[in-house]
Parts: sequence; C-alpha cells; structure tokens
Amino acid sequence: MIYGRDVIHGHRTVYPLPLASAASFNDELVTECYRNIAVEALADGIRRTFSPMLDLCHDPRWGRMVEGPGEDPYLGARMAKAIVRGFQGDSLNRSDSIVACAKHYLGYGASEGGRDYARTEISDITLYNYILPAFRAAVDAGVGTFMSSFNDINGIPVTGSKKYLTDILRGKLGFDGFVVSDWGAVSQLEKQGYAVDRRDSAKKAINAGLDLNMCDNCYIDNLEDLVNAGEVSVQTIDSAVRNILCVKLAMGLFDRPYGDMIEYDSARHLSDARDLASESMVLLKNSGVLPLGRDATVALTGPFINERRSLLGTWTLDGDAANITSFAEALCAASGNVRIIEDSDNAFEYNGIDTVILALGESYLTTGENHSVSDISLDPAQRELIKKMRALGKKTVAVIFSARPMALGDIESDLDAILYAWHCGSETANAACDILFGKTVPCGKTPVTFPKKATQLPLYYNITSSGRPANCYYGETDQGNYADGICTPLYPFGYGLSYTSFEYNGLTVDSDTVSLEELKAGKRLTVSVNISNVGNFDGKETVQLYIHDKVASIIRPIRELKNYKKILIKKGETARVELTVGYDQLGFYDGSGDYTVEPGDFEIYVGESCLTENRVDILVTK
Ligand code: BGC
Repeated sequence: MIYGRDVIHGHRTVYPLPLASAASFNDELVTECYRNIAVEALADGIRRTFSPMLDLCHDPRWGRMVEGPGEDPYLGARMAKAIVRGFQGDSLNRSDSIVACAKHYLGYGASEGGRDYARTEISDITLYNYILPAFRAAVDAGVGTFMSSFNDINGIPVTGSKKYLTDILRGKLGFDGFVVSDWGAVSQLEKQGYAVDRRDSAKKAINAGLDLNMCDNCYIDNLEDLVNAGEVSVQTIDSAVRNILCVKLAMGLFDRPYGDMIEYDSARHLSDARDLASESMVLLKNSGVLPLGRDATVALTGPFINERRSLLGTWTLDGDAANITSFAEALCAASGNVRIIEDSDNAFEYNGIDTVILALGESYLTTGENHSVSDISLDPAQRELIKKMRALGKKTVAVIFSARPMALGDIESDLDAILYAWHCGSETANAACDILFGKTVPCGKTPVTFPKKATQLPLYYNITSSGRPANCYYGETDQGNYADGICTPLYPFGYGLSYTSFEYNGLTVDSDTVSLEELKAGKRLTVSVNISNVGNFDGKETVQLYIHDKVASIIRPIRELKNYKKILIKKGETARVELTVGYDQLGFYDGSGDYTVEPGDFEIYVGESCLTENRVDILVTK
C-alpha cells in the first residue's frame, strides 16, 4: 500500500508557496526544504505526494498559478528538478524518500481566461517548447509518478489521450513510472462529452495509458467487464499494473511495507523555512526608506496585521495556523517602537510616527484550485487605505501577502517601498520583519511578470518579435500599444531589488564561434562577467543568462532564460561569475517534438533581469 496525500509546499512546517519559492532562484535551498517536507510526511506514514505542480501560466487570474513555478520553462525545469530531488532524495529506495508526482500533465495552466477547469488551445510547438520542459526535467530527475490533468487540449481531454499519456510522455519523455488521474478525471470524460458513460470513460482512459484511477471507481467497476468483452486487452492491464508495481518495488515497499520510524529536528525545519521565505520575498520598490533603522517609530496597519491562515497559503492541509506568528506579533518582537493601529482611519493615531507599514494582500481563499479571480488588483478598501496614508505625508511601506503577481500599477507611485512577501508559509511574518529591519538583505526575483493592470494580460517576457515596433515589453512603444496605456510591465521577469547595488562589467565568452558538431559533442561555452557589490551591505544576486536566437525556422523569443546562478557577494567585493551554454540550451523543438540547434547568430545577455542590455554575440557554424 502507498499512502498518498497532497503534501504540496510543506507538511507540519509550511514553506513558501511554489510560485514564491521559485522567486528564490535558489535550487539547493528548495531541495533542502523539500527534503524536510518529505521527512515530516514520512513521520506520519505518507509515502507519496501529489507534487510538484509544474503548470506554467500566463494568466495570474488563474487561482492555481501559485502552485507552479511561474511563466518560464527554464526556471520551471530547474524548480522541477530541485523539488523532485528534495522529495525523492537520490533514490526512491531511501528510507527517507517519498515518491513525487509531476502534475497536472498537461497544459492545465493554459486554462482559457484564467478560469479553472476551462478548455485549452495549445499548438504542438508551444507544447514542446513552453509547457513540456518542466515535465521533461521531472522525468530526468527520476520522478516516480505523473498526474493527468482535468483539461482538454484542442478538444481532446488529456486523461483520455494516447497522444499525451503514451506517445509523448513515454515515447518522447521516456517516463517509466505510473500515471494517476486527477480527482475524478476519468468519470469526467463523460461530462466532457468524450465518453458515453463511465464504462466508456474507463476504456478510453486505460487504453490511452492512464494506469491508476483516482477516486471515482470507474476502473474497479468496469475493467473486468471491458477485458471480458475484449475492449481492453490483458496486456494493457498488465502494463498498468507493472507500472504501479515497479514504483512500489523501487520504493522498497515489498521489503519495508510500513517504513521506518522517523524523527526530525523541527527547529531546523523552521529555520530553513525562514531562510527560504527570506530568499523568496521580492523587494519591488524602495525609495531609500528600507531597511528601517532600529530607532524608527513605526505604525502598523492594514487588513493583514493579525492574519495567520493566509500566510500559510493554499494547499496547506497539515500546517497549523494557530501556531504561526502574525505580522503584528513579529513586528513587535523585532522592534520596541511599533504602534499597532487597528482602526486605520484615525489620523491622530499617527502623530509622532516616521513610517507607516501597511499589511496588505489577498486571502488564501482567492487562490488555489477553483479559486480564480477576474481582478488581480488590491481590493478597493486597500487601495483607498494607501491613498489615505499617502495624504498623511509619512513614509509608507507596503508589505503585500499574496499568491499571484497582483496588478499594482494604480497605487505603486503612492508607496515609498513595496516588499512582496507572498504567502510564504510558517515563517512569513518573521522573514518579512528580518528584511524590513535589514537583518536579511532581500534577494528574491520575480518568477513571473507583474502587469500594471489586469487588462494587460497575458503579459510575459519570452515573446517573439512582432516585426513591427510593437515589442512593448522591451520598451518599443510606437505601435501596438493600447490606446489607453502602454503595455510595458510594472515589474519584468527576473526583477528584484536589494539593499545593496551590483554593477556588471567585463562580459566575455571564451569562444565567439562554435560549430554545431562541437556543440553536439558536448562543448560548452563559458560566459563570464564581473559583478561588483558597490553598496553598503553584503548581498546575494541572481545572475541570469538569456539567449536570443536571431534567425530560425520557427521564430524564437526575444529573450529566453537559459541559465542562472545565485551568489553571495560581500560589500566592496567583486566576483567573477561563470555560466555555461551548450547544445541543450541553444535549440528548440519542432512540432513533432524533435530538438534542433540551427546554425546562425545568437545574442547572449547576462544581467539582473530579463531587460538587461549586457550582451555578447556568438556564431554557431554548420
Ligand atoms: C487537484 C489535484 C490534487 C487532487 C487530490 C484535485 O482536485 O486538481 O491537484 O492533487 O485533487 O487532492
């Protein structure tokens, strides 16, 4: 028996939501935290989890964007590996491993209009280049199970599709574990109009390559009859059973059916949760007001001052909100000069205060499954509160507890600083205070584009050039804009401030010409850059490498993230950072799923966000 549970971003100790932890760009720390999660789950007898969720998404109205890695396939692939390694360790057979599940396969994040469970329309080119890389990375990391998604792609429900479940998943990706349906997704085939009844649903799903049926009993009720009627072959049943048994065998369940007694150090888990929360938070704006000095007199107000449950985030089944620190408690513990103002309307309450901190955001109930929203701005009462605080003439800092990139365009200029604290789990409040008072230096980077307003959606960085001066994301504003506003993002992908400043210099590549043959034989180019910490704090920087394949048979994005490295640089010091690029980063997939690198000119950008202009060029010859 394998006991499975939705252990998504924590068990007893809760870590940042997956979208937030992607903002850390810290693969090693993510792996360490998911190791802790595995151990806590095991201690409760859970050997299998329904995570990681790898659905890339361009529409933050979708409540489930928060469960995934954001908008970028490369970051998605790195996070997929980091999380699978965390859950499964280096082998499924370890006594402290639990089996991971790459979900929701496939395309669920493209739900039309951000409405949950809606249809999707996805070309094979988009599928292979944008949606599949994170799933491919999970397979490469040895993920034991996959979950089929609820949606249809171009009219074919994935749960009943041989193309997706067998030809691509097993044929192209080489997956050899088992595939479970999402909750009730087999019987859903009937409601989707793809099967006439439950029996037909079971037949279509098992013949497509779906091994295990979650919850609706379509298989148990119908497979025997389907086999007797010759509509499902015994070989198909054998193959599904084999896939499941092989995972159990690999996990050592036949030798150790009950697992081992596990003990763990919850204090260490909590400290890791604080580290990951700190590294996940993104400082979006700072007009010199942060960090706060120890003697600053601070007022704290806003709807999230006493909130606990939302800080844990959606899909928290076993973390106890009663045990976590609220923001008001954390701030009072961090400084003796904090005035908590519950009734924010009384202007006289702010007399003698230097800085007002606003605890803002959204409830966990507006995120997660079946919880999409049409408006991703702060609610009207919070927007009004910001305006009122601005009118008081105090320094105003917003700490935003949210699970999606919210549209902050209408209030951004009224704030002196914005710390995006997400729903970062058990240590959200403490980690936010560490940053506010400079105990830790912010280093998170946006794993997703922040639009100015929701009407700009979809807005993401890895667009192809339109050929007209209309690539607004990159500052071309002559044409193609909305008549009622330009469509640059408020904060681009990969963006985030620090308390210190980094200067990039001396970008070089060890060889500006390389042949296709050499690349295929494994040659990697080394791109190097000097990064100087010229500010007053030690700080971590995520150095990002993007490519642009200038001319190709299928036009390539203006920028594509292809490597990154997060490093600590002490103040006053300079680090030489090297990032490599090889065959696996320079190519793309055609519509049949074949990978190719096409000779020609490539631009390589290295910098602090997707908008960096530090560039070297290379030529790939035939
Ligand atoms: C969700 C999955 C989850 C499953 C089991 C479904 O409704 O889509 O993500 O793992 O339920 O709880």
